[in-house]
Amino acid sequence: MKHSNLEILTPQGTGDGDKPQKMRMNKRTSCIRCGKCCSESSPSLMKEDMALFMSGVLSHETTYTIRDRERIRSHGDDSVYESFLEFIKIKGRDGTSVCVFYRDKEGCGIYENRPAQCKAYKCWAPENLMKGLEKGALKRRDIFGSVDVLLEVIDKHEEKCSYGKLSDACSRLAEGDEGAVEDIMDMLQYDTYARPFLQEKFNVPESALDLILGRPLTDTINEFGFRVVKEGDDYILLPIEPEIREEGE
Ligand code: SF4
Ligand code: SF4
Repeated sequence: MKHSNLEILTPQGTGDGDKPQKMRMNKRTSCIRCGKCCSESSPSLMKEDMALFMSGVLSHETTYTIRDRERIRSHGDDSVYESFLEFIKIKGRDGTSVCVFYRDKEGCGIYENRPAQCKAYKCWAPENLMKGLEKGALKRRDIFGSVDVLLEVIDKHEEKCSYGKLSDACSRLAEGDEGAVEDIMDMLQYDTYARPFLQEKFNVPESALDLILGRPLTDTINEFGFRVVKEGDDYILLPIEPEIREEGE
């Protein structure tokens, strides 16, 4: 049986002797301000960004804390990874991955005062960013260092419901240790009641809670394989069933 010739042409077409020309892939070497990075994630803050809090560019309304060992879902490939340190991030717009300062068609709303990571980010060499974060991440202590009462609240909260403790309890539960349920419920309860306590006792605005205490454990526990359902005044802990893929998918 005779096969017809199969030709694969590169965008450059063919060269001498009808051989396809080599493809030339242009690697980006400078920023064209396309805004893709601002839509896919918001920056983590460095110590030098403290000046942006002092000048009012950043505030508790636009930032939140990722706590040590918190599990974070990447918007890019949906993978989950564990944070190896505490750091502070700019919030996403309406719960999405788009930076809260990003304006469609206009770009960054605080471009002249954008955080250090935004100035340093090169989408063609993203690995440099994590190294810098490890050394110079802005932490809650840098922001609230002069407010002893808040530091005490933060320390107590970490002692009672750190992600290390939560991770350990979730692993024990997954292995069948039913005693771990009580430990998890204690952590959820502490985290849930610490928030209105801060609001009522110290007049802390609700918008500052995710910066002071990190995101609510009732939400972030999802990345540990469990979800929390509220029924009346009670919270119920349920495992998240892995998605059952339809045959042939
Ligand atoms: S760093 Fe890259 S993705 Fe971000 S705006 Fe510049 S070219 Fe676009
Ligand atoms: S602060 Fe500005 S430059 Fe940085 S991610 Fe947000 S919109 Fe982009």
